[in-house]
Amino acid sequence: MTAVVEVKNPLLDAHTQLSRAVEVLGYSAGMYDMLATPRRELTVSVPLRRDDGTVELLVGHRVQHNLSRGPSKGGLRYSHDVTLDEVRALAMWMTWKCALVDVPYGGAKGGVRFDPRQYSRSEVERVTRRYTSEIMPMIGPSQDIPAPDIGTDEDIMAWMMDTYSVNRGHTVLGVVTGKPVALGGSLGRASATSRGVVYVALAAMRHQGLEPAASTAAVQGFGKVGRGAARFLEEAGVKVVAASDQYGAVHASQGLNIRALESHVDATGSVAGFTESEALDEPDDLLYLEIDLLIPAAVEGVITESNARRVRAAVVVEGANGPTSPGADDILTARGQLVVPDILANAGGVIVSYFEWVQANQAYWWAEAEVEKRLEERMVRAWERVRDHAVLHDIPLRLAATSLAVETVTTAHLARGLYP
Ligand code: GLU
Repeated sequence: MTAVVEVKNPLLDAHTQLSRAVEVLGYSAGMYDMLATPRRELTVSVPLRRDDGTVELLVGHRVQHNLSRGPSKGGLRYSHDVTLDEVRALAMWMTWKCALVDVPYGGAKGGVRFDPRQYSRSEVERVTRRYTSEIMPMIGPSQDIPAPDIGTDEDIMAWMMDTYSVNRGHTVLGVVTGKPVALGGSLGRASATSRGVVYVALAAMRHQGLEPAASTAAVQGFGKVGRGAARFLEEAGVKVVAASDQYGAVHASQGLNIRALESHVDATGSVAGFTESEALDEPDDLLYLEIDLLIPAAVEGVITESNARRVRAAVVVEGANGPTSPGADDILTARGQLVVPDILANAGGVIVSYFEWVQANQAYWWAEAEVEKRLEERMVRAWERVRDHAVLHDIPLRLAATSLAVETVTTAHLARGLYP
């Protein structure tokens, strides 16, 4: 008998989500095709001179999904799993995310297929500078604005900004966001995605009748999103009983001490081996714990039709992009579990990226409290709008969020008209 291998392609999930929204909105097949297809995509060779003098050829992509509402915006991912279809899906989700939280961008995404942890920092810098120079014709502060994503950080954003600026002959701060604060980055950007995830998670728990201070949570992924989310949940009184990364998962029924766990991760590079906890057999076992809140904050495609029935959390808040497949969504919804979709839950990052771009364009920087206040306002407004739409039409939050966003993009597209 042949084993059934589950092929994960996030673009198929993105297309299914879009077609469900297009059906609710009553749009034509032609409109679906336009919305499903990237506006532009570029695949580039990135030859890397290794530290030992040998040359290795890497492949990179930049996809601009939609430009109807403004320049395109979205992160740059360095991962061994990068594929063109993955970048296409992530770019499409950025379009919906920006429309939903009303920042004036279309969606884009970039990726280079390599694992930066296997390379020296100077090799990562050379990859970044060569990739940036290859995609130069596509990016710019009024064209397409990259930002960090999995495997990239503020140093990489600084190298991108520098490469672009040196080639233009003057400093262009607004070409990327997520830069170091010393170089035109925004205060509050580094914690923005996690803060936004937690604002929405607390609101969603209350909506389900759960009191956060009497609730338990587990966080999958302890990187840019999961780590901060765990800390902010703990600060809000939620007992974070489990956390994981790709190397392991740790569990403590009395609640993990997140500060101590962060120190352990800083010292060892992983949550594995944290002494004030017991290890779960497999990192994925975290998904199946009996908890109130689950935050998948790692990668796409972790809750699928094959494991959704094992997920017991009452509320799932997507810190990652695309962690839940449409089939899994249906299973969770049928069982009364609430899924707060990525394009709403993790939009805090791009919201503060927008603030960073506005500040760079005006050359006037805001105080951290100002950034956090405006972030909270936008997240709460977006949550209430999606919740009300879902309740009114008796539809899941993902369908409500996606159809609101798709309608916003389509309205802009129709107002512009077709050229010629
Ligand atoms: N990579 C982040 C995301 O998926 C942030 C994108 C941005 O700030 O442009 O939302």
